[in-house]
Amino acid sequence: MEKILLKNIENPNSADINEYIRVGGYGSLSKALGMQPKDILEEVKRSGLRGRGGAGFPTGMKWSFAIADPKSPKYLLCNADEGEPGTFKDRPILEKNPHLLIEGMIISGYILGSEYGYIYLRGEYPQARDILNNAIKQAYEKNYLGDNILGKPVKFALAVYQGAGAYICGEETALIESIEGRKGQPRNKPPFPVNVGAWHMPTIVNNVETISNLPYIVEVGGEAYSKTGNKECSGPKLFCVSGHINNPGVFELPMGTSLREIIYEHAGGIKGGKKLKAVIPGGISTPVLPADSIDCQMDFLSMSKAGSMLGSGAVIVMDESVCMVKVTHRALKFFEHESCGKCVPCREGTEWLRKILERIENGNGREGDVELLSDVAGNISGRTFCPLGDGAAGVVMGMLKHFRNEFEEHVKNAKCIFS
Ligand code: SF4
Repeated sequence: MEKILLKNIENPNSADINEYIRVGGYGSLSKALGMQPKDILEEVKRSGLRGRGGAGFPTGMKWSFAIADPKSPKYLLCNADEGEPGTFKDRPILEKNPHLLIEGMIISGYILGSEYGYIYLRGEYPQARDILNNAIKQAYEKNYLGDNILGKPVKFALAVYQGAGAYICGEETALIESIEGRKGQPRNKPPFPVNVGAWHMPTIVNNVETISNLPYIVEVGGEAYSKTGNKECSGPKLFCVSGHINNPGVFELPMGTSLREIIYEHAGGIKGGKKLKAVIPGGISTPVLPADSIDCQMDFLSMSKAGSMLGSGAVIVMDESVCMVKVTHRALKFFEHESCGKCVPCREGTEWLRKILERIENGNGREGDVELLSDVAGNISGRTFCPLGDGAAGVVMGMLKHFRNEFEEHVKNAKCIFS
């Protein structure tokens, strides 16, 4: 497949504006400014683009809600807070193709009637911050940002806002709280950010990868874009693959590529010739799949049918030597640490789960602990303020569904059966 999002990134100067322009960059912006915003919105709808941050909501439809709201100003926030273990798919765009994202932001702002954009960047990406800031400066100098863009009565201001390293700020309302200068905790929904978002104004929050698709959609049109991927989920998708594989990295492939193809053809297969045991397909918050499930397609709907989620497309591969109790324990340590504390089921429940897992892993598991894990996870699920609690519970429930015997064996033998 022709590279769209990772085009030209092997070039050492790919982040420089002149190099980006040399390979056709900012041509889509020029084309877009000659079109009516409503016509570009129709192209986005026709493309079938869905948000790449995890939820998979149709982008054009989401934008329509903000456009229909008469309040102004409107804000466009790019979510570059990829803080989930296993997720690093946006990093190549941020560090090697920043002008693709900037061009996408300007086009998106034009469609939405927004003159103000922020890129909310995770605290742990200092290199990306410097690269983005330099790219934004270059774009202002060339008049792609600022007032009267390319001589048209269009303006768009863009800045980077760096978070302090909290995973929860990847949730859109917590991100908005953070950008407004408050503690990053989720807001109640409704009202949704498309109507009442940053500074109480209509706000669109979209992921880096989502917005980076805009220049290509404008270039080829929605119909042509929709030919990549499959019928329900179109376009290119970035998959970041890590774990026990020979060739870890970020791969740009059509949406709907099978997990088997990603692991064995692009990521080079399992390291050391070992057997595949399990895959976490979309970042640590997505339920695990056993080795015999890898013929499923990696798109939003197929993954849901397979009993998991596409999430961010962060594929974590585990070979036969991996202890699933240990993996679950590590995951819950993360969720306990990152719980913002706003609601009881998540704040207390993640700690309880972590404590039970800790004693099972350390050989101190008690009779009934496996049932207790299931009970606590079931009581978190669906009862929390934001998806972090559901994610934590889902990890435990997914592991118990496919690898319950390992948990029971740990309790029975009073030790890790892999040590
Ligand atoms: Fe905070 Fe967890 Fe509740 Fe989300 S689910 S609001 S992270 S305590």
